[in-house]
Amino acid sequence: MLQIHQFPCLSDNYGFLLHDPDSGETAAIDTPDGAEYLKQAEAKGWRITAIWNTHWHPDHAGGNAAIVEATGAQIIAPSEVERIGPIDTVVTHGDTVMLGEWKAEVIDVSGHTNGHIAYHLPEAGIAFVGDSVFALGCGRMFEGEPQQFWDSLSRIKALPPETALYCAHEYTAANARFARHADPDNAALADYARGIADKRDRGEPTVPTTLARELETNPFLRADSADMKQRWGGQTAPETFAALRAAKDDF
Ligand SMILES: [Zn+2]
Repeated sequence: MLQIHQFPCLSDNYGFLLHDPDSGETAAIDTPDGAEYLKQAEAKGWRITAIWNTHWHPDHAGGNAAIVEATGAQIIAPSEVERIGPIDTVVTHGDTVMLGEWKAEVIDVSGHTNGHIAYHLPEAGIAFVGDSVFALGCGRMFEGEPQQFWDSLSRIKALPPETALYCAHEYTAANARFARHADPDNAALADYARGIADKRDRGEPTVPTTLARELETNPFLRADSADMKQRWGGQTAPETFAALRAAKDDF
């Protein structure tokens, strides 16, 4: 069985180590903080053999060099990560990445950055989505366009609903405040938001979430629904998404 070790790092990132006991391989999913990743791996008795980057931002790829120097890990990344440093294997939408016998499918989830990818492991029922989608939110649109970002969210929406989404930041409490503003009559969202407040009061993570829950409650994933289009004044899902994204940026 795959093992996932999740830990907080930097101010609000999550670090993830994905370990396959059969092959002994361990993937670092992004590298917000190289030293912290090495410490966490050592405590587990795992050696990092690969780095799987989702996008080029320094709080996702800034620890690559330190981890490679300490372990010789292979960097698998979208080409945009070359802005940060060298890559061993460039991957793009439709490619497959292996960890032992476990298969990860690379999905284009661009919009936050133009090369952002996610890693979906269908047999494990998990996806590492970086800064594309968050619990009750989505990444800021730094580089992309609304149609592009909506197409990316549509690819995430098409995954099996039971998929566990490993988002890269603990932004959920702030996202919940905007989501309640964006979609005030959504009873499932109100329930979910209460549970989030309780979890954060206890110091527990709200990540991973599940796609099924986000499909019901995440305003950005619901930009194609009639009620969100009406409330936010978009004729199409990308227009509604753009209105939501702009409102969140100023919220
Ligand atoms: Zn980012």
